[in-house]
Amino acid sequence: MRCPFCRHSDSRVVDSREVDEGQAIRRRRSCSKCSRRFTTVEEAVLAVVKRSGVTEPFSREKVVLGVRRACQGRPVEEDQLQQLAQRVEESIRSTGAAEIPSHEVGLAILGPLRELDGVAYLRFASVYRAFTSVEDFEKEIADLRAVMAADESGDGGG
Ligand SMILES: [Zn+2]
Repeated sequence: MRCPFCRHSDSRVVDSREVDEGQAIRRRRSCSKCSRRFTTVEEAVLAVVKRSGVTEPFSREKVVLGVRRACQGRPVEEDQLQQLAQRVEESIRSTGAAEIPSHEVGLAILGPLRELDGVAYLRFASVYRAFTSVEDFEKEIADLRAVMAADESGDGGG
């Protein structure tokens, strides 16, 4: 990592701390030539493997985009989308895998989205699970009702 001020290639770490609940490490560095200080952030790369076999870095923004589409016209705040994307990233990173198939990203979205908004969840699930019939929706709605009823009975679900 070159010094952003003088482009010198050598620097020394003067401080390092975990950020984002341990997902990344932020280092304060001092350039060994000009002595100016700058910050670097180090983070494990999480790659998403698409169906075509192409990999791309995991992006919270893409999760938000996909979910936002499903939430159109629903009472869902931008903040909630950001929080959902963060939860998705955390659940994926917690698996410890460096690469995950894109459909597992979809899978990780379904749970938090169901808690957020039932209608948005059904929209997202219908695309993600490629619903082909009314029966698919009926079955999903029945499952959704069962989950919501379980939540309301207050069994400490979370
Ligand atoms: Zn420098």
